[in-house]
Amino acid sequence: METTLKKIPLLDVPAQTRPIRAELEKAIGRVLDHGRYILGPEVAEFEKAVAAYCGTKFAVACASGSDALLLALMAIGVGPGDRVITTPYSFFATVSAITRLGATPVFIDIDPATYNLDATAVTRHLAAASADEVRATRAILPVHLYGQCADMNALNEVAARYGIPVVEDAAQAIGAEYRGRRAGAMSLCGCFSFFPSKNLGGMGDGGMLTTNDDTFAAKLRLLRTHGAEKKYYHRVVGINSRLDTLQAAILLVKLRYLDEWTERRRAIAAIYNRVLADTRAITLPVESPECRHIYNQFIVRVPRRDQVREALAEAGIASEIYYPVPLHRQECFASLGYQTGDLPHSEAAAASTLALPISHEHADADIEHIAATLERIASKR
Ligand SMILES: *Cc1c(COP(=O)(O)O)cnc(C)c1O
Repeated sequence: METTLKKIPLLDVPAQTRPIRAELEKAIGRVLDHGRYILGPEVAEFEKAVAAYCGTKFAVACASGSDALLLALMAIGVGPGDRVITTPYSFFATVSAITRLGATPVFIDIDPATYNLDATAVTRHLAAASADEVRATRAILPVHLYGQCADMNALNEVAARYGIPVVEDAAQAIGAEYRGRRAGAMSLCGCFSFFPSKNLGGMGDGGMLTTNDDTFAAKLRLLRTHGAEKKYYHRVVGINSRLDTLQAAILLVKLRYLDEWTERRRAIAAIYNRVLADTRAITLPVESPECRHIYNQFIVRVPRRDQVREALAEAGIASEIYYPVPLHRQECFASLGYQTGDLPHSEAAAASTLALPISHEHADADIEHIAATLERIASKR
């Protein structure tokens, strides 16, 4: 007789939706009633709510996190021949925003403890760069990876020294804090994603930009509607990138639960940290004392990572690798000329990290079971 294995997914989207389904249906119904599907009233309301949540003066909604990054760099004026400093250890969109504008990504390695862009290495790079290279550097684009903010004071300091604007890729970090300030509020502009697997996820794609600069906010609004303030009169060439009213309506409902869900993620992280504290083979995530981590992902390092992942799968436990190939080693960027060994901390992270289930809908018992199973597997090898 077969025993049925309990399967634990990385995230269970229908289970997340169930408790708030009635509220979501009401919000969707209101959009059906008014019919203003493009930049309807819920979009402006959601922009205000996100600006208040992040502590910025403005928020401008767009179609995705990828577009938010693209719009931010477009508004700065990044173009062919320009350079943008960023991390090679992130989701692809961080870098494609740079290359789509004809600019060159300058990859700087990560801090292996936090997985975020190493501010000291950025400083070293700029100190060694030629005057032309410094002049061509139009932005620094750190990522608040996995839900923990990069070292923003150090990055802002070096950026200010050279007069380079900073843009935060905060796609994984809504509500994350650094020295009491929220992600997206510590630079010229923050870029957010509402992809369903983010801490605040829509029922499809969505994105947002946050800024305290009113000229910059106006530029972003112009660029997201084909560069036209008045319909059919185009001041600049923009793109079509708007958040659907329907998504804004859904996200407004879910935003009310975000803090509760973040607390739940932090409680799950605490369970992992407790059960796995003495497991020598496993490196747990480091929460910097300056930061409030929101755990979009719970990342461990483990030797023979791929075998461990397989053994977890055999035990019915889903896990994921974010990200198996660092961006400087992606096939599409071969022409940039980076080699294996150029950015060793990013390469080591790509080879050894594993993401465990941490979504708010998981029960304590499931997390304890995952942690105990992982401990057994990792200690055996
Ligand atoms: C999800 C993500 C993006 C892209 O967001 P989309 O909404 O999927 O386009 C960009 N950067 C990082 C770090 C992300 O995690």
